[in-house]
Parts: sequence; C-alpha cells; structure tokens
Amino acid sequence: MTDGIVRIKQGREKPIRNRHPWIYSGAITHAENAVDGELVNVVDRNDRFLARGYWNSRSQIQVRIMSWEDEPIDDAWWRKKLQRALSLRSELNASGPRSACRLVNAENDFLPGLIIDRYANWYVLQALTQFIDKQKEVILGALVDVTGAENIYERSDVPARRKEGLASTVGPLRGGPLPDLIEIQENSKYLVDIAAGHKTGFYLDQRDNRRLLACLVKHHLAEGSGRAKLLNLFSYTGGFALAAGRFGALHSVNVDASRKALEMAERNFLHNGYEPATYGETAEFILADGFDYLRNCAEMNESFDFVLLDPPRFAGSKRQVQRAARGYKDLNLNAFKLVKEGGYLMTFSCSGGISRDLFRKIVFGALADCGRTAQVVKPLSAAADHPVSLSFPEGEYLKGLLLRVY
Ligand code: SAH
Repeated sequence: MTDGIVRIKQGREKPIRNRHPWIYSGAITHAENAVDGELVNVVDRNDRFLARGYWNSRSQIQVRIMSWEDEPIDDAWWRKKLQRALSLRSELNASGPRSACRLVNAENDFLPGLIIDRYANWYVLQALTQFIDKQKEVILGALVDVTGAENIYERSDVPARRKEGLASTVGPLRGGPLPDLIEIQENSKYLVDIAAGHKTGFYLDQRDNRRLLACLVKHHLAEGSGRAKLLNLFSYTGGFALAAGRFGALHSVNVDASRKALEMAERNFLHNGYEPATYGETAEFILADGFDYLRNCAEMNESFDFVLLDPPRFAGSKRQVQRAARGYKDLNLNAFKLVKEGGYLMTFSCSGGISRDLFRKIVFGALADCGRTAQVVKPLSAAADHPVSLSFPEGEYLKGLLLRVY
C-alpha cells in the first residue's frame, strides 16, 4: 500500500518547515488515499515533500508529523528514535534500577502520541493516537531490543483516545505478573499502582520540584525554626510531603478529593517508617475539596511555613481559560493568606491553555488582592526527563513558581 498524500495550502507551510508537529484541517487543501491511522506524505502545492506523518480524519489535528526526512518509518527507525530518547535519560542520570522516569515524552521526543514511562523494572506504554495504537507491536519489539525490557504494561486509558475513535486499553503486554504495587526510589520511597494510579501511576514530572521543596525544608529546619508545617494541597499519594519530611520535624497536612489517593498516601507514609501514633504531629490526611479547604483555613487564620498548590488541569483548551484563571486566582489568593512571614508558596498550573506568562499574571493578581509582597525565588517546570521540543510550545504544560512571601 502506498502512503496517502496530504497537500498543504499555500502560505501554511511555514510551521511545518519550522518543525511544528501538528497540522490542522484548516492548513490542508486536500488529502488523497489518506487512511485513518496510517502514514501520509505531506507536500506543498508544487508536490514538494515537506514531511511524513500520520493521518486521522476524526481528529482536529489531522496529521502528526513523525519525520521531516523522506525516510521509511520502519523497525530500524523506531529503534533509532527510542535509542535517542533513552540516551538522553541515561545522560541525565535518570535511569537507576529502582528509579522511575519518563523515557518517551511524545511530541517532545519527536514521537507524537507515544508515552513510555519506567517504574523500576516495569515499563508502561500509553498510546494516544490511532497510528501509535496500530504500531504497538513494532514499538514493543523496538523497546525490548533497545532496553531489554521484560515487563511492559499498557495504560492507554486517557480521554484523548476517544477523539481518535479509540476505546481504552489497559493490561499487561509483556512479562508479569504485575505486583499490586511497585516500589520506586525517588526523593523518598514511593509505592506506585501502575494499573490504576493517575497518569501512568505517578506524577513523575514533579520529581525535581519535590527535591527543591525537600532542600528548602531541610535548611528551614536548620535555621532553628522548630517544627515546620506544610499544607500539601492536591496531595495525590503524598509525594511532596514525603520528600520534604525526610529531614524530620515536618508536620504535613495532605488534602485531596480522592479517597484512593489519600489511602495510598497513608500507605506510603507507613512504608517510609512513619508511625500512625505520631500522625497528630507528623501527618494528616484530609478528604476534602481543595478550594473549600483553603477557604476555611484562610477564614480560621491558620498559617503554614510552606504551602504547596498542585491542582489538576483546569483548562485543556483556550475556551476554558477564563474559568481556569478564576480558579487559579481563588486558590492562590487564599494560599497567600496562609503563608507565614518569610515562608514559601510553591504553586503550579498544568493547564495547557494557560501560558507561563498568564499564570504569573494570575498569581500576581492574587498577591495584589491579598496586600502582601513576594519574590519569585525560582520559576519551575517539569523535570528534565520531560524535555520540551523547542518547535512545540504546547509541550510546556507544567509551569510553576517558587515564591517567598512577606
Ligand atoms: N502533587 C501531587 C500530584 C497532584 S495531581 C504529586 O506530586 O504526586 C492533582 C490531585 O488533585 C489529584 O490527586 C486529584 O485527586 C486531586 N484533585 C482533583 N480535584 C480536586 C479537588 N477539587 N479538591 C482536592 N483535590 C482534587
């Protein structure tokens, strides 16, 4: 079967030449023999080759580009691309035997629609698009060749698949049996449920930020301020609190709306040697809506040395931006009210529709309304094993600020 052809409108070739990987229907004159989930050649109006990608007529993004070279996308190609992604993680020293890291970050590793994470000796594959779904066996072969992976699990259960006309697929692909929980060593020991946890089991993207918080807490304690108090809002399984609690004297209040996440958080605390008998002064696990909880704390004039705000995505698209902005403003305003003089707020947005610039403006608006002052100690982003393709601004979804508040 020969690949289909997609012809681009005059004047719309520039982003493609600049290596942006997405082509929307509005940039296309017409498509010939293009089959959903199969490769197509992208050409300009004079039939000059621009790129090779894959087609899906049902998606708003009709072509995702796999290569800007006129080359076959075969087994050897997959091996080469996976090897390249892997070598970055080795060079970042992100691939110890018990550690966890993202090996393939989709468009940002020039492999649109494919996520591969590793948790100790388990690999988790997530196929986001029809082409990747169809190529699964080829990808698995290349992954085994390149990494020697023995245990591979599939977590293709993201809502984005529906837009591609795909159902959810979850289950073992190679090796096994899958243990109930996998222990990884990061800034602390964490138990991860790769079969049912969020994303592929854990928020790997926050690794460096957890380390930064741990470092701040350690030195804050060394300054002799006694026991430090952390409000870990949207705590999931306790990632930030456990990292920061390694240095003793921390009281963390972990708040999440998911009972399952909080149960795992408590299990993680036990696994790290915390005694339930001391929970009153070391850890609390509170099932609550984050917005309500924060508002109540502010009304009760509570105060914390550290406040961490890592809410779920509020705006995936431009249409949801305004509502999302109000949500972030509300959260950050109440968070500012709670931070002790000289304490810290670490605040994040993982909404694709909110730019780094806009996020900073929203947080500034909240600060101004609160009548306090703050410094940006560090702009924050996803860990280095989540690289962002420079030609793909959409790839930078996680943005945060470490602020010292006065
Ligand atoms: N900081 C975490 C990741 C947070 S992900 C880590 O490092 O692992 C966002 C979390 O917010 C999820 O655990 C989700 O269950 C929770 N959540 C979603 N909506 C919420 C709400 N309205 N109130 C409280 N928690 C919520």
